[in-house]
Amino acid sequence: MFKQLPEKGLDKAQIFSHLEDLKKNDADWKKGRVFSLVFHPGDEASEVVKEAYKMYSSENGLNPTVFKSLKQMENDVISFTASLLHAPETAVGTMTSGGTESIISAVKAAKKFAMDKNKSLSKPNIVLPESAHPAFNKAADYFSLEVRSVKCLGALEPDLEQYRSFIDGNTVMIVGSSPAYPHGHIDPLEKLSELAIEKDLWFHVDACVGGFLLPFLEQLGHSVPVFDFRLPGVSSISLDIHKYGYGPKGSSVVFYRNSEKRKKQFFVYTKWIGGLYVSPSISGTRPGGAIAGSWAIMNFLGTEGYKKMAQETLEAAQKIQRAVNTIPELQVTGNPLTTIFSIKSTGKIDIYRLGDELSIMGWHLDRQLTPPTLHMTISYGHVAYADEFIRDLKLAVEKLNSTSLENIGDSLKQTLVKQGAKLLPESWLKKLSEKSIENVASQESESKSAPLYGLIGELSGSGTLEDMVLDLLDNMNKPSKV
Ligand SMILES: *Cc1c(COP(=O)(O)O)cnc(C)c1O
Repeated sequence: MFKQLPEKGLDKAQIFSHLEDLKKNDADWKKGRVFSLVFHPGDEASEVVKEAYKMYSSENGLNPTVFKSLKQMENDVISFTASLLHAPETAVGTMTSGGTESIISAVKAAKKFAMDKNKSLSKPNIVLPESAHPAFNKAADYFSLEVRSVKCLGALEPDLEQYRSFIDGNTVMIVGSSPAYPHGHIDPLEKLSELAIEKDLWFHVDACVGGFLLPFLEQLGHSVPVFDFRLPGVSSISLDIHKYGYGPKGSSVVFYRNSEKRKKQFFVYTKWIGGLYVSPSISGTRPGGAIAGSWAIMNFLGTEGYKKMAQETLEAAQKIQRAVNTIPELQVTGNPLTTIFSIKSTGKIDIYRLGDELSIMGWHLDRQLTPPTLHMTISYGHVAYADEFIRDLKLAVEKLNSTSLENIGDSLKQTLVKQGAKLLPESWLKKLSEKSIENVASQESESKSAPLYGLIGELSGSGTLEDMVLDLLDNMNKPSKV
């Protein structure tokens, strides 16, 4: 039976006590235990964001003529950001709900731009490094584009020969990341910019995660490659305020070199019986809180605040990286320049089992596929917990090295699953793995996910895995039943 809406509303105290209770099973992000899902600027700054959000949580950014406050704040945010990106005076931007919407918007604009220019273009494609964020694949799925995914050496540097060979008359966009999320590697943006100019192509720089970090690292004198509008081939840039901008969830910016390009993002419908409909972004109603919260945090921190946080965060990240590299069983992947990186095994331990051990200790790191790694996005909220993390990381590795019966059981299971993946028909495998999928869905047993990640590695890209994940997602998002 579906859970029923209460007949009589609960009182305020009951509501908040329920909400507090619900939080008890969440990961302890305030103690730095969560990576990349939460960007915490400290309690005082966080209060500023929340207060501003609350003040404008009813206002709607859809119609800028009604809420001039929001229009003013959005234009300020865009302006602050433009100067960080060395944008030309012609540049324009839009606030969106997040990196995904910024990317989908840019892809939509690029596709329309190319197709308006070339009426014979019928099978549009985008070319991107395989390390690019899946938001591009999502956009391609929505807008029926082919994705041409360029191999990256060691999952880091895209093969430029292949990149060039993938481009043809139907290419509507090329992409580079600054940095790419999985291992924090920055693509060869200068070369891609030249390629874009040579081929007269739309070049999008995905700075979703790095956009509010790199400019401040550069201002501090750290060596970071140029990633912004100083590269003449760059057409658009996405950067998330809700990441290193430390704004409220639901805030990002997408930038265009000029209005001609951005107009391809806008949507106007003039024949609706409800009147003229104009919408700048994908979402219709736009939360005023996200705009006000972003405006507030930027003004609260100022350049000085962002620089100080970037410096301390970089130091914490480098400290962790150094510690990782002194552990013989572990290694940082590649040579990350920023606070985003991944940890791989040197071969003596199973990195996914290390992930499990860390989960037991309360640290929630994403498991990545190629190469098998644990992901780390270090943000300001981790600065105070770097030493604790290093201590627990060492403990976890020691624990894996002392082979217990349980560990042997686990790796045996994993070996079986891996061999199974090679030997069994896909339908059998699906049944076999249902148990593991249930494990991931229920938080308690996250600690036993290593065999599943081994399996996912084997099945990556297959239809079976896609079906399995679709089932999982469907099962996790069901109405509450009593
Ligand atoms: C986070 C991220 C995105 C997507 O942003 P969301 O806000 O999660 O939608 C896109 N690209 C990169 C590089 C990212 O790190």
